[in-house]
Amino acid sequence: MDSPRNLQGDLESLRLYFRCGRTKEASWRKTQIKGLLNFIKENEGDIMKALKQDLGKHRAEAYRDEIGTLIKSLNYALNSLKAWMSPKKVKLPAVAVLTTAELLPEPLGLVLIVSAWNFPFGLSLEPLIGALAAGNTAVLKPSELAPACSSLLANTMTSYLDGNAVKVVEGGPSVGEQLLQERWDKIFFTGNARVGRIVMSAAVKYLTPVALELGGKCPAVLDSLSFSFDREVAVKRILVGKFGTCAGQACITIDYVLVEKKFLPKAVELMKAITTKMFGENPRETNTVARIVNRRHFLRLKNLLDDPTVKASIVYGGKTDEENLFIEPTILVDPPLEAEIMTEEIFGPLLPIITLENIEDSIEFIKARPRPLTIYAFTKSKTLERKLVSETSSGSLVFNDAIIQYAADTIPFGGVGESGIGRYHGKFSFDTFSHEKAVARRSFLVDFWFRFPPWNDYKLQL
Ligand code: NAD
Repeated sequence: MDSPRNLQGDLESLRLYFRCGRTKEASWRKTQIKGLLNFIKENEGDIMKALKQDLGKHRAEAYRDEIGTLIKSLNYALNSLKAWMSPKKVKLPAVAVLTTAELLPEPLGLVLIVSAWNFPFGLSLEPLIGALAAGNTAVLKPSELAPACSSLLANTMTSYLDGNAVKVVEGGPSVGEQLLQERWDKIFFTGNARVGRIVMSAAVKYLTPVALELGGKCPAVLDSLSFSFDREVAVKRILVGKFGTCAGQACITIDYVLVEKKFLPKAVELMKAITTKMFGENPRETNTVARIVNRRHFLRLKNLLDDPTVKASIVYGGKTDEENLFIEPTILVDPPLEAEIMTEEIFGPLLPIITLENIEDSIEFIKARPRPLTIYAFTKSKTLERKLVSETSSGSLVFNDAIIQYAADTIPFGGVGESGIGRYHGKFSFDTFSHEKAVARRSFLVDFWFRFPPWNDYKLQL
């Protein structure tokens, strides 16, 4: 289904197929997950090629963030499916004598998954794993901004799946809008908050539940660690989580770093040295940093740097190459907080460092801004750690590393407040696409006469 022309007919077939009950069978669900696993394993080379073509991603990044992570998630789902599908017995109060109850996960029906371009496979398949493991039929709309990846999903991945249950619709915003007019049992959206609002408004029509995986500005608090080894490890993890993760075009990338004033010279010196070590003197030649997805995003990032006060704050990098849509890893110190680079999500290889008198001030700095998808903190101070845990709010909070939470099946991935609604990965994906039905069973044996009318004062006193 590569154009929305036959949308109505296709959607009706998907609904009918769901109703026939086939997708509820455990064996069917397992076959679909195995199909996805085979798709990834048998098309590794093509996946890498498509990621190179659309985003200039290095093969190592393609494997780490997409292929390897998905193989791990698919194996985890295969091994966990039986447990996920099992009803859970629950306790009831003593008054419910001779009654048992359980929570039974059941699929929602026909679901829509709209994904983004920066991790075109992961952002499509992680939710799709959950949708199929939970026994739904699904329509996936990948992003038009990664066309080679979208085409691989539409033309190759679908041949590994039950075509009666999964369709891929390719296209841009107009196709997305057309899909949103339809009746769904759940809409799972990954993208920016502006489109997230469009999704939520459209969902009102049929009271469709939504999951919105959005973005925002994820801060990293870099404490002035006393040992040089710790400092180096911290800076390496920050830089790979920024420049080495789709060139900072990731929702959980580090948007900016907060450091104490007295630590700034050391932090900048380390960041410069390690960036050069990781990506070379001329990163465009080494092909180790992904390119910017398209001209619009390139110009948006270039405009951020063109602001004279922002430009003056560049301490490393800053070169842009429009023809190749490439921007050097760029480090800035204290760009104005009112400049767009500090008010909008950066989503590119620009890393502002913001200085504070005391590292504890980072808590107020973060709390004064919208709640991020993730807060990172590199510290050995238990006091700072405790304060960050208890006083800040974010989708996740990660100490002493970056991005690793994305690959963990046992912790939920999702935002809070403006960074999103809903969560997924591992069992959380299964839950996102399930309804937990409460099933209670009462025996006929014991009955209480006082629970039935006619009412009188005596019954009330019992
Ligand atoms: P986007 O919101 O423009 O596009 C995402 C998807 O929505 C695409 O498939 C696109 O075709 C579709 N779309 C666009 N306009 C639409 C409309 N009017 N109606 C229906 N569908 C429409 O995404 P983007 O801005 O290119 O992606 C970057 C954003 O996504 C960043 O804000 C980033 O933080 C966020 N993001 C979040 C996550 C996460 O997991 N939380 C992951 C990746 C990206």
